[in-house]
Amino acid sequence: MASSLVISLDFELLWGVRDHSDRQSYGANVLGAREAIPRMLEMFAKNGVRATWATVGFLFCETKDELLGSLPELRPAYRDQRLSNYTYLDEVGEDERRDPYYFGASLVDRIRQTPGQEIGTHTLSHFYCLEEGQSAEAFRADLAAANALAERRGIALKSIVFPRNQFSDASLAVCRDLGLTHFRGNAAGWAYRAVRTADQTKPRRALRLVDAYTGILGVQSFTPTSWAGLVDVPASRFLRPCTGKLARLHHLHLATIKNEMTSAAKEGKGYHLWWHPHNFGTNMEANLMGLSSIIEHYQRLRGQYGMASCAMEDFK
Ligand SMILES: [Zn+2]
Repeated sequence: MASSLVISLDFELLWGVRDHSDRQSYGANVLGAREAIPRMLEMFAKNGVRATWATVGFLFCETKDELLGSLPELRPAYRDQRLSNYTYLDEVGEDERRDPYYFGASLVDRIRQTPGQEIGTHTLSHFYCLEEGQSAEAFRADLAAANALAERRGIALKSIVFPRNQFSDASLAVCRDLGLTHFRGNAAGWAYRAVRTADQTKPRRALRLVDAYTGILGVQSFTPTSWAGLVDVPASRFLRPCTGKLARLHHLHLATIKNEMTSAAKEGKGYHLWWHPHNFGTNMEANLMGLSSIIEHYQRLRGQYGMASCAMEDFK
């Protein structure tokens, strides 16, 4: 098999972080994401780069009425209610113009209009498949509603990225029933295993952090496999934001990613990079420059080893 660079983005705006942040604390990143998305799209289009945009279903809605009309009856009963985006519906504005934090239909359109881009799902409500209180039935209702919103716009969802990378055999079975064919699994190893938030312990986070700048845990290139009837296109690495104290180490992170891309290209394997648009929302120029250097590196590998650019749906 030819080697490939896969890119997936978890497109969520405020829905993806509301349990621990709000407009005040993270609003600049969310608004910045709205600016970063067209710039990423431009870069992708110019370089023939494909990407999967795993989109929170609520972002397809044009108005609050449409959003309220799309809600399933069965909702997740998380033990920790902060996790439920249904808790925050009161603060959602009327439409995208008045509430750019919670609406994104114009950006969904923009993504659709850019060649080579796949629109996938990040569930309707940023659903957590491993948190206490969730159920497979509530997940089914959530995903069915996301499917309906996409279908209304003529989009057939094929690929899913699970919020916080939480999934189980039961969640995969639901995805398969509802017609999804591809998912982003997790990188191999203890540090990257799918766990609930409470089990994202400090040692786990610390190990991932060290790995991001050194690649000490080894190259996470992949060959796609089938799991519960879906194609697993596992993550290789999270593209970390260039921000805060770690910004001065960003070049090491980029170097780690490029080394791993080169290994994947030489071995005929896949390399799957992912991030959230809001990670680029502040310090945008530095983040875009980092991405641009990754894409340049990809172009070299394409020339030298025939590496292809793929969306998640491209794998058999
Ligand atoms: Zn998310």
